Amino acid sequence: MAVIKPENVEDFYDIGEDLGRGHFGQVRQVCERATGTVWAAKFLKIRKTACSRLGLDRSSVEREVEVLQALQHPNIVILKDVFESRAEVVLILELVSGGELFDFIAEKENLLESEAIEFMKQILEGLGFMHSKNIAHFDLKPENIMLSDKVSPHPNIKLIDFGLAHHFHQGVEYKSTSGTPQYIAPEVINSEPLSTAADMWSIGVITYILLSGLSPFQGNTDEETLRNVIAMSYEFDSRYFSMTSSMAKDFIEKLLVKDPTDRMTAEECLLHPWIKPITRKQVAKRNRSSINMKNFKKFNARRKWKMSYNMVWMCNRLVRLKLLRGSSDQDMLQRQCESDVEDAESKPASLLRRRLSSSS
Ligand code: ATP
Repeated sequence: MAVIKPENVEDFYDIGEDLGRGHFGQVRQVCERATGTVWAAKFLKIRKTACSRLGLDRSSVEREVEVLQALQHPNIVILKDVFESRAEVVLILELVSGGELFDFIAEKENLLESEAIEFMKQILEGLGFMHSKNIAHFDLKPENIMLSDKVSPHPNIKLIDFGLAHHFHQGVEYKSTSGTPQYIAPEVINSEPLSTAADMWSIGVITYILLSGLSPFQGNTDEETLRNVIAMSYEFDSRYFSMTSSMAKDFIEKLLVKDPTDRMTAEECLLHPWIKPITRKQVAKRNRSSINMKNFKKFNARRKWKMSYNMVWMCNRLVRLKLLRGSSDQDMLQRQCESDVEDAESKPASLLRRRLSSSS
């Protein structure tokens, strides 16, 4: 059972600037009064009643807390404390101040595969640790891969957002259709029993994008994207992959595999020659290959634009709804953003529930 303090976070922390927003939470920088240390506080609104239109089920917040409490790893955001007051649970998290990995990379003029691999290695180490604890993230995408700080030339990867994560228990099947279409594994779409292998599919998609600036299954609509995933319809277009090593393509091919039991695990990825070259020839190949920076920058700019567009759309819609209902608490309005929009739209499937979050 997750430990949640029935106290008001504002009695212990000064609430500072906005750090980001997701579907279900607003994240603010906070300063712990007793020590002066800065943290990130994720505010999650809890549904008041089962039929309430706003907020999250308490059980799903407890799941996120429980998962984070079980994960202490240098590449996974640390949970320090949890508070609950009125209809809100607040997670006090390690402050991750380096921004998103994709934004960091997009600022570079060029990047060798060997440099990109240093980040991939850390992602896989965090993931390998998580999977060794029988926990899957189920929402791996560029927005959830952040960097520890902005000052170090080699910042550490920090995986964030465990809102869809699941702790597997032996003999207990788990199904879910939540996720983001571009990054989602076929077994999620097909409502099949899931395993940690679904995360490995997402790693295949993320690596593909990182190298080429193309999203392998992206269609014109979410429905088309999901159809492309099911059909396994992707290729390495030579116009975008001319600078990519054959080892990198092999790495991706061993992840974008329909049968989850045939996909490489995080541990196996760490031993793949693209990540851990054995021969001098393999080392040389990696050092000669680079990521398609021109197209990657384009992909990232589009992704950021769509994220801002979606957020503005969601907030405008919520403000309109709230004004209609006569609410006046502006801060609360912003925190409630997404969950309200979802209900107003009455989307039936949770797959579509999450789609506005990203660049799909
Ligand atoms: P989603 O819609 O993807 O499910 P969410 O509501 O679960 O999102 P998070 O993804 O956890 O919320 O956080 C929203 C944003 O807040 C992140 O994209 C990131 O920019 C920022 N953020 C989250 N955690 C931290 C942190 N520990 N330090 C700094 N910024 C953070």
